[in-house]
Amino acid sequence: MPSMLDAVVVGAGPNGLTAAVELARRGFSVAVFEARDTVGGGARTEELTLPGFRHDPCSAVHPLGVGSPAFKTMPLDRYGLEWLQPELPMAHPFDNGTAAVLSRSVAETAASFGARDAGAYRRLVAPFLGRWDELAQDFMSLPMTALPRHPVTLARFGLAGLPPYGVLARRFRDEKARALFAGLVAHVIAPLNGIATSAVGLVFALAAHAGGWPVPRGGSQSISDALTAYLRALGGTVHTGYEIKRLDDLPPARAYVFDTSPTALARIAGLGRVYDGYRYGASVFKIDYALDGPVPWTAEEARRAGTVQIGPTTGEIGRALREASGGQAPATPFLITAQPSLADPSRAPEGKHVFWAYGHVPNGWDGDLTDAMERQIERFAPGFRDRILARATAGPPQLAAKNANYVGGDIACGAASGLQLLLRPKISLFPYTTPHPAVFLCSSATPPGPGVHGMSGHNAAKAVWRRLRAE
Ligand SMILES: Cc1cc2nc3c(=O)[nH]c(=O)nc-3n(C[C@H](O)[C@H](O)[C@H](O)COP(=O)(O)OP(=O)(O)OC[C@H]3O[C@@H](n4cnc5c(N)ncnc54)[C@H](O)[C@@H]3O)c2cc1C
Repeated sequence: MPSMLDAVVVGAGPNGLTAAVELARRGFSVAVFEARDTVGGGARTEELTLPGFRHDPCSAVHPLGVGSPAFKTMPLDRYGLEWLQPELPMAHPFDNGTAAVLSRSVAETAASFGARDAGAYRRLVAPFLGRWDELAQDFMSLPMTALPRHPVTLARFGLAGLPPYGVLARRFRDEKARALFAGLVAHVIAPLNGIATSAVGLVFALAAHAGGWPVPRGGSQSISDALTAYLRALGGTVHTGYEIKRLDDLPPARAYVFDTSPTALARIAGLGRVYDGYRYGASVFKIDYALDGPVPWTAEEARRAGTVQIGPTTGEIGRALREASGGQAPATPFLITAQPSLADPSRAPEGKHVFWAYGHVPNGWDGDLTDAMERQIERFAPGFRDRILARATAGPPQLAAKNANYVGGDIACGAASGLQLLLRPKISLFPYTTPHPAVFLCSSATPPGPGVHGMSGHNAAKAVWRRLRAE
């Protein structure tokens, strides 16, 4: 290691690794320090239950990963990353045995909403079809670290996306499209009536048509391993098993880049109360299952989908989100579930499956949501319980213990609601810089927020290399 590094990155999650890669590929010397013994943060894969069952304790499905402007410029396929597409990106089943779907095809998606809403769906997505790359380039760099490159597309997207979910829902007459979109908004754990919640739903729907909702072969660890291997090939180094508590724990560097929560960063770098107003949000209760066979969904579409949302009405989904955000565990939780081994049989022994599910619970909640979740799954897949070979559960305290960024179990590293959905960690044109000129923030507590896409790392790296070049 040189006596003075250009940059040190704290945290080997997707954003920390992306920031390190972006700096290394521009010729800067970089070292990454990670608290855990393995890299990956929220993109990792582990045998949590039984031998041969490879589970994703955190991220599983990657619409924003396959569509990430940052990942697209990296040769990650050469380092083992391969996206596998389930037959359907997502299914949203109802009590009568039918399901709405997000398909790669707009026509199939629209048809699944029923005759009264098919046209409304086609009209909603039409202006953006074939434009994912230009849209992602701009909205994933928000707030404007650069002027938008495609102002017209971005403005149209802003008009459709900035209103709360309720405005978007009014385009539809029936519950199928409405519930599916409410479920999409719930992916960022935002209450349905917040600012820009329409944009959240729209982004996930457009992603299905653009790049699908794929899983990485071998599990989400493959994303982290590919980023790490590419970083090493560029001359960067990665050191695991180092929990950084003070800036002095790090080797001397011209820039320190933190893939941590803002409050941890303030503590470690001695920044005082600068992030005191930052809010953490609801958490999740996560279950990883080893199953004897596929989930026996009643709706045929759900048997072919990588992701299955469970919450048959907007009312039910809204209530579950309100309860979790308001401090009460929902009796009828809204669930996001994933079945990675449908697209990637290597994740489980032959004929067996891994199944991934979470429901929302209050920040810091230490109860057990297993029974409520399994009742919900049984409702749409009778016989599910009989297929369970083993399960691993993790509520807020367990999630927080595994990753310091999940404060109180908040997997979004900060509430994605109100202005904090768009402007994080505080209202600023420069969210990646801090009051300390050599200290930067690159985690999902900065725009564009949660998800495995590396764009916070990419944007932060831009701020770092500009500063380094200006010195
Ligand atoms: C249950 C669950 C399900 C999810 N599902 C999906 C999904 O399907 N698709 C998707 O795109 N996203 C999903 N996510 C979200 C996604 O995992 C995160 O948004 C993403 O990982 C954030 O990346 P990051 O690099 O900002 O932080 P993280 O991935 O959290 O990485 C931060 C890293 O920094 C390390 N660190 C923190 N403090 C220190 C310190 N002081 N010293 C050294 N190291 C430190 C941590 O150990 C960690 O490795 C899910 C998350 C969870 C928990």
